Amino acid sequence: MSYIDCHVHSMGDETFELMLEWMDREKLNKHLLFSKHPFMSDIDLSKKKLTGLNTLVSDKEFEKNMAAVGEAAAKSKGRIVPFLWIEPTMKNTIKFIETAVKDYGYKGIKIIPNGWYPGEERFEPVYDKIAEMGLPILFHTGALWSFGETSKYCRPLNFEFMMKYPGTRFAMAHIGWPWIDECVAVALKFIELRENFPGGDKLQCYVDITPGTPPFYREYALKACLDVLGPACLMFGTDSRTSTKVISVSKPSEKYENDKKILTKLGCSQENQDKIFHKNFLEFVGE
Ligand SMILES: [Zn+2]
Repeated sequence: MSYIDCHVHSMGDETFELMLEWMDREKLNKHLLFSKHPFMSDIDLSKKKLTGLNTLVSDKEFEKNMAAVGEAAAKSKGRIVPFLWIEPTMKNTIKFIETAVKDYGYKGIKIIPNGWYPGEERFEPVYDKIAEMGLPILFHTGALWSFGETSKYCRPLNFEFMMKYPGTRFAMAHIGWPWIDECVAVALKFIELRENFPGGDKLQCYVDITPGTPPFYREYALKACLDVLGPACLMFGTDSRTSTKVISVSKPSEKYENDKKILTKLGCSQENQDKIFHKNFLEFVGE
């Protein structure tokens, strides 16, 4: 058993030693680690009316989280692939992206549209910078477990704006659950419309198959992806947390075994499973 996990969260309190031990124990070849989320948990549940939307962390805190994951990745000899979780509403986002790549070797960007639409015009300078630097983006897609009315911003349709950036690879996470069909439709559109583009033989749109899908939907979601999109754009992930407090109960190997069983049942060959559990990730991050 050996696989790559494209979706792991840093919680800001991890130790490198525990992460290495965890990777070995879980037979994890590599994983994509997001820097810690840029929000404060400051919702006052005692209020009569809850207005939602978290406050953002300070620039200093953001930079601290950036450094922590960047330094762990540097020590890991390629086993931790760092992605910077940005909030494009933060004034210094472009500067953060430049520092992350230059000083810490970040390989890509993670975005959760948390209260704004990802394709809003005001974020164009941020996407222009990401495109210029050749970084892939992993977007949270589907229902969002943040406080308030936030899931609508993460519907798969909202990512069609990435057609403006044909050279920038991106992934939609969680197969867009509960909008699985919508996610498959958007990914299919990217595959089919690109056929006549220069460089269109290379994929732009990937689907991160990290659950989000409760078990009831899992087989349907994987079958829809395989039958309609094929295996070339699918990447395995688990949504594991590396926080010292929960790393011992983060079990990507169990999710690997479960998905492997379903994929085998669906007739997915060993070669195609290799793509989903290894190779597609390497192409996505540009390794
Ligand atoms: Zn996640």
